[in-house]
Amino acid sequence: MKLKNKIAVVTGASRGLGRAIAKRFAEEGASVCLCARNGDLLRTVSLEIMSRGGKTMFERTDITDENQVKEFVTACTSMWSRIDILVNNAGVLGSRSVLAEYALAEWQKVMAVNVTGVFLMTKHLLPHFNPGGSIINVSSSVGKVAKAGWGAYAVSKFALEGMTRLLAEEVRSQNIRVNSINPGGVATEMRHQAFPQEDQNSLRKPEEILDPFVFLASDESKGVTGQSFDAQHFKIK
Ligand code: NAP
Repeated sequence: MKLKNKIAVVTGASRGLGRAIAKRFAEEGASVCLCARNGDLLRTVSLEIMSRGGKTMFERTDITDENQVKEFVTACTSMWSRIDILVNNAGVLGSRSVLAEYALAEWQKVMAVNVTGVFLMTKHLLPHFNPGGSIINVSSSVGKVAKAGWGAYAVSKFALEGMTRLLAEEVRSQNIRVNSINPGGVATEMRHQAFPQEDQNSLRKPEEILDPFVFLASDESKGVTGQSFDAQHFKIK
């Protein structure tokens, strides 16, 4: 129960990695606020959490829409007044093509979720954070080392790495830490979209790579900020 009495927000909790993070955080004792666009899937995740005795709430939210983000933040804080943990997990892949051929509309869609959505959720939750809180941004290996053909997704994750370091400096004095985690390849819909030929049985499941998320969310990571972690090669820095 490393997250006992903590209140956590997880974006993109309807499936994949976000669903696994939400369930694990609830098992570790956190109350979890969930958002994504698919309300039916969110309800299922929420029922799974409650059936194991966890505390949760969810609200259908498109993180690219500032009004929806504000409504979600109001819903979370009217239930649990203060927030301890934010996992900015929601993301989209977009098309896998080189920048020279990248369509503007696709670029804008990816940036809206992976960069602007993270900014909006962070901005509106920050005033409700408890000192000692933790923000975890879900990054990617292609946001750290350039890999041709990953288009707007790669650029968005480089931006997220930058946002992580910038925000870490800005909220250090409020005793809030901000770090990023690259999950590495895990068996989810997004991974299948990126590598349709791949046998997903050869990959780790989201549930198998969650220890660094719990570490960064918990008081064990006190003082750790502005860092970038690899979930599949996790070492305490
Ligand atoms: P996924 O299965 O496609 O799940 C993505 C989640 O994001 C879904 O819950 C989706 O819910 C949500 N989402 C997308 N657009 C949204 C929006 N506008 N507003 C709110 N929620 C939105 O992908 P995943 O593999 O679990 O990815 C989770 C994170 O890990 C992403 O940031 C991704 O870049 C990162 N990552 C994954 C891998 C991997 O191998 N899987 C590797 C590196 C990094 P709705 O559709 O219901 O909105």
